[in-house]
Amino acid sequence: MDAARRHSLVVPSQLNTAVVASFTTSKPLAVLLYGIPGSGKGTLGRMLSQATAWPHISTGDLLRKHISEGTATGQASEGILSGAFAADTLVNSIVALRMREVDCRRGVILDGYPRTLEQTMVLLPILRRMNLEPVLVRLNLDYTEVRVRLQARCHCAVCGTIYNLIHLPPRLTGRCDDCDGRLIGREDDQADLLSKRIEHYLTRTAPVAQFLEASSVRVVELNATETPARLLTAILSRITTENRIEELL
Ligand SMILES: [Zn+2]
Repeated sequence: MDAARRHSLVVPSQLNTAVVASFTTSKPLAVLLYGIPGSGKGTLGRMLSQATAWPHISTGDLLRKHISEGTATGQASEGILSGAFAADTLVNSIVALRMREVDCRRGVILDGYPRTLEQTMVLLPILRRMNLEPVLVRLNLDYTEVRVRLQARCHCAVCGTIYNLIHLPPRLTGRCDDCDGRLIGREDDQADLLSKRIEHYLTRTAPVAQFLEASSVRVVELNATETPARLLTAILSRITTENRIEELL
């Protein structure tokens, strides 16, 4: 078990066991997790993987594994750790390789893939060949709220004191209370990286979800502000119920 998975073990009592049990009879699905950075889809993906025994395939985790093992793929994708995005062909090949493994036959949970329309065009035929029905799971979180919070953050260029223009503003605009140093915000690497990832999600990834929806892929909408345990129960019961309905038709 890898560290990331151990990190978010689900307490069995948090789960609706009847829902989990009925899920084992579900037909093979490819759950495609969507949500802006910070929506908690990584955590949900790992919990869903535990409940279904389907592998949680995160392109971020796969790339980091290749990098730490020093493979050719890893060397070609080192920029992702500093916020760059890996080329479609590279990501397509590592996901395709992973999906050939035997544990993917009964179902998979894809996290962070497909992230672009180009990746989507490669994935859909693979799912058809594997007889996995795609289901889009979208974690909705108000991104303007995330962005406002990010933009409100700044810190002193001299002493490093952190301010928040909304919740913890300095007495004088743009100046540190403690040392009168200049306040900067954009240079904050973490905030910048997150901001870049949100921008990328909105311009490149959100259209993928729209495309899948327009292609009659089933969609499960979730409110990301719910607790992970409630989100998990909601997704399991909705997929199971909808499966049953389809079988009756
Ligand atoms: Zn200062």
